[in-house]
Amino acid sequence: MGVHTAYIGAGSNIGDKLLNCKNGISALTNTQNAVEKAWSRFYKTEPVDYKNQDWFINVVVKVETTLAPFELLKTLKSIERGAGRVDGSIRFGPRVLDLDIILYDDLVTNSSKLIVPHPRMHKRRFVLRPICDIDPTIVHPVLKKEMQALLDVLDKNEQRIVEYRCDY
Ligand code: ADP
Ligand code: MG
Repeated sequence: MGVHTAYIGAGSNIGDKLLNCKNGISALTNTQNAVEKAWSRFYKTEPVDYKNQDWFINVVVKVETTLAPFELLKTLKSIERGAGRVDGSIRFGPRVLDLDIILYDDLVTNSSKLIVPHPRMHKRRFVLRPICDIDPTIVHPVLKKEMQALLDVLDKNEQRIVEYRCDY
């Protein structure tokens, strides 16, 4: 038990992308098992691994949660399904809603179903840019580098992202 700090990444590139992200986070906090502490800005982001798809909206939210890591993952997966996510055949392909555990306290875990810190977070501008809005000094528990430093070394010419201005 106890209260833990987690950073959740939300993304969508189908339908009302912004609303899908917002509703996904609300669904988590509505369970009463997580309280939102801070939101990053929203970003419109170029698809990274599988390029032949629409741009995404991404956001990162800091939450306090009483859920253990695996319970949190199960909750996020169930919210994704509730949003209508159907797993297609394309890895990293289009999705109504993607909810990932980016960080969970200083936890380092590498099981078949849950890897924390998220295994690709340190390479993804659509994670690092928003997390730096919340706190650029968070230290990656494996790489021992601050989020800002991880962001700074990404190739400037890749992974375009632009702030998505909206009324919250
Ligand atoms: P991705 O988010 O990498 O595009 P998916 O959303 O399809 O991929 O997730 C595939 C699987 O990744 C999930 O079913 C889950 O078991 C696993 N997974 C491992 N680590 C994490 C994590 N930190 N956050 C979310 N899912 C994770
Ligand atoms: Mg995911």
